[in-house]
Amino acid sequence: MTAPIRPQPGILDIALYQGGQSALPGHDAPLKLSSNENPFGPSPAALTAMASALGESHRYPSTDHAGLRAAIAEVHGLDPDRIVCGVGSDEIIHFLCQAYVGPGLEVMHTEHGFAMYRISALAAGATPVEVPERDRRVDVEAILARATDATRLVFIANPANPTATFLPMEDLTRLAHGLPATCILVLDGAYAEFVDGYDGGKALVEARENVVMMRTFSKAYGLGGLRVGYGYAPRAIVDVLNRIRGPFNLSGVALAGAEAAVRDLDWVAECLRVNATERARLTGGLRQLGLGCDESFANFVLVRFADEAEALAADAHLKQAGIIVRHPKNYGFPQALRITVGKPEDNSRVLGALADFKGAA
Ligand code: PMP
Repeated sequence: MTAPIRPQPGILDIALYQGGQSALPGHDAPLKLSSNENPFGPSPAALTAMASALGESHRYPSTDHAGLRAAIAEVHGLDPDRIVCGVGSDEIIHFLCQAYVGPGLEVMHTEHGFAMYRISALAAGATPVEVPERDRRVDVEAILARATDATRLVFIANPANPTATFLPMEDLTRLAHGLPATCILVLDGAYAEFVDGYDGGKALVEARENVVMMRTFSKAYGLGGLRVGYGYAPRAIVDVLNRIRGPFNLSGVALAGAEAAVRDLDWVAECLRVNATERARLTGGLRQLGLGCDESFANFVLVRFADEAEALAADAHLKQAGIIVRHPKNYGFPQALRITVGKPEDNSRVLGALADFKGAA
C-alpha cells in the first residue's frame, strides 16, 4: 500500500512544473532560448570563486549566509538583516506559502502568473486565486476588488513572466496601500535588473510591514543552475522565514559563486547593455514580420501569432532550425511563443527562421 498523503486538500491538484525544454532530437547543440537564461553564462569571477569553494566541499556551508548577504547589501544598498536567501527565489515563494497560508486562506496571482505561486499555495493547502489581467498587464483595481480577509499573499512578478510587461512604482505603491494589513504583497523581481532604474521596490519594503521583494541570481547573473535567490522583507517576516529554512539550504559553492557574481558589477552591466540593444532589435524585427509583440522589460519577448495552430507551426519551424523556444500554453498563451533574448547572432537566427516561416506560411 502506498503511504497516504497528509489529509489536506491541494497536493494532488498540483500540475507538475514544466520547465523549458533543453534537448532537441537530431540537433547536438540546439540554440536554447526557452528558459530566460543569460546567454553569456556566469561571470568569470563567479567561476573562479566556485572552483576554489569546491575544494572546501568537505565542510558544511554557512548557515546564516552572512558573506552573501553582506555582499548583496553593499552592492544594492540594502539592510543585510532584512535579507533571507533561498534555493532560487522558488524557495522563497515556498517559505512564504508555508509560513503564511494554509487551508481556508488564499494566495492571489495574476492570470498569466508564474506557475510556482499556484504550486506552493496548493502545497501549503491554501487556495490559489487567479485575477484577470488587462491587455496582458497587471490590473491593480481587479486585485484590490477581489482581495478579502482570507487573502494573505499576493504575488506580482514585475516585470511579469511570460508577458514581459512592467508595472510602474506608483501602481505597486497603490496596491500595497490598498491591500488588507493582514496580506503580504510579494514583488517578484526575478527580471528587475532588466528595467533601467528599477530596484525591485526596495523603498516600499522598507516603508511598510507587508511588502516583500524577491530577487534571483538565475537571470541577469547567469547562475540559474546554481539555484540562489533571496527575499528582502521586514525583519519580522525574515525572522519567520528563517525559522522554517533548512540550516544548510545553500551549498558553499552556490554561496561563493553568488557572492562573486554580485560584486562583478562590470560583467552584469555589460550583459544588461547587450540585452537592451538586442531586445529592441528582436522586438522590431518581429513586428516587421507582422507578429504581435509588446514592449519587453525583461530578457525575453512574448510573440503572438494569429492562433494556436500558427504558434505551433512556428515552434515546429524553429525546432527544425535547431532553436528551442517556449510555447507558454500552460501560462494561458496557446497562441504565443516566449523567446529569450540571446546573443546577437542567436537573435539573428531567430529572426531569419521566423522570416522564413512567415515567407512560407
Ligand atoms: N519568478 C519568476 C517570475 C520567474 O520567471 C522565475 C523563473 N522562471 C522565478 C521566479 C524563479 O526563479 P529561480 O527559482 O531560478 O530564482
